[in-house]
Amino acid sequence: MADRVIVHLDMDAFYAAVEQRDRPELVGRPVIVGGPVRRGVVSTASYEARVFGVHSAMPMAEAVRRCPDGVYLPVDMARYTEASRAIMDVLHRFSPAVEPLSLDEAFLDMTGAEFLFGPPASIARSLKDAVFAAVRLTCSVGVAPNKFVAKVASDLHKPDGITIVPPGTEAAFLAPLPIGRLWGVGPKTADRLQRLGLVTIADVAGMGPERLHQRLGSLGDHVAYLARGLDDRPVSPDRQRKSVGSEETLAVDVSGREAVERLLRDHADRVARHLRGAGLKARGVRVKVRYTKGFVLATRDGRAGAPFDDSVTLFAEARRLLPRLELDRPMRLVGLAAFDLLEPGQAGQGDLFASGDGEARSERASRVEHAVDSLRQRFGDVVTRAGRIPRDRSGGA
Ligand SMILES: [Mg+2]
Repeated sequence: MADRVIVHLDMDAFYAAVEQRDRPELVGRPVIVGGPVRRGVVSTASYEARVFGVHSAMPMAEAVRRCPDGVYLPVDMARYTEASRAIMDVLHRFSPAVEPLSLDEAFLDMTGAEFLFGPPASIARSLKDAVFAAVRLTCSVGVAPNKFVAKVASDLHKPDGITIVPPGTEAAFLAPLPIGRLWGVGPKTADRLQRLGLVTIADVAGMGPERLHQRLGSLGDHVAYLARGLDDRPVSPDRQRKSVGSEETLAVDVSGREAVERLLRDHADRVARHLRGAGLKARGVRVKVRYTKGFVLATRDGRAGAPFDDSVTLFAEARRLLPRLELDRPMRLVGLAAFDLLEPGQAGQGDLFASGDGEARSERASRVEHAVDSLRQRFGDVVTRAGRIPRDRSGGA
């Protein structure tokens, strides 16, 4: 099999970094995000806090003992999820094969992408730059021929690091590292290996597969395989993409409802076309703006009465969210996304239970826009834009 190019990207001290980004007075200070001080645990410690020996999963009380002058903050999942969504959107621009492992890390299969993005070092650089441009947060990237080695690599030069492991050098790269780095080797297994005198991955590799199997059975087979830097697990793309979105960072700030609506109308066209192209319908609508001052992001979610794939419904639902946003402040970004997606086949069921004028309008618009799509396919982009389809409020399909 040809060499694969697998990327593991991991945000640096993610929750703490989001807090420091949004509250500049916290930059350079030890920030600890976690549960209540009395009985919670640390979710993320900033690098400044790690100097004091504070790390994730540590009881908060212990963290306070080690770092009494730290800034202790509760977990604000809505904001981290928002940042995560933006990060995953960036990653999907680089590869269709993105496998998120959590809010702040993902594998990407970039095999064959050298033609577009250059050698692994350039791929890593471009990814880091694009993520930073989108969310102003740093990440660390590992590039290797497989998932296991890429994940070890991304962790090696944190924070803000890039580690490339060229094909053929996997075993040498792993050799000096402690056995705890082997995928699936927890403290208990590490104990068993240590009792055999195995401390580094080189020790494991040196023992040879037969003896490892004799001593440890199937666990021996597993670690012998990994110690050689082998791993053939594929990157499993996130098939159930959470949302389809369109957004634009603007060259000139905008403000006012009219300007925002104009942008949303274009986004609605694009998102709806993407939905139809993928055979998806959506029920959720999300409007997102970023205010220029403080780089503050605001999102508002709404729900349509029935699944839709047309721009008329999408735009109408987006407009309904606008009174819940401050539109007179200067904005740098306006975006629109459809979420709560239904795969082809699922969509029919939703239609069965929904009813009413809104739905009739949505169905009619959908039929027209599907027709426009096929005209576009045949004649190019010369037909009337879908957003101008006249609305008929009289009801009845
Ligand atoms: Mg991380």
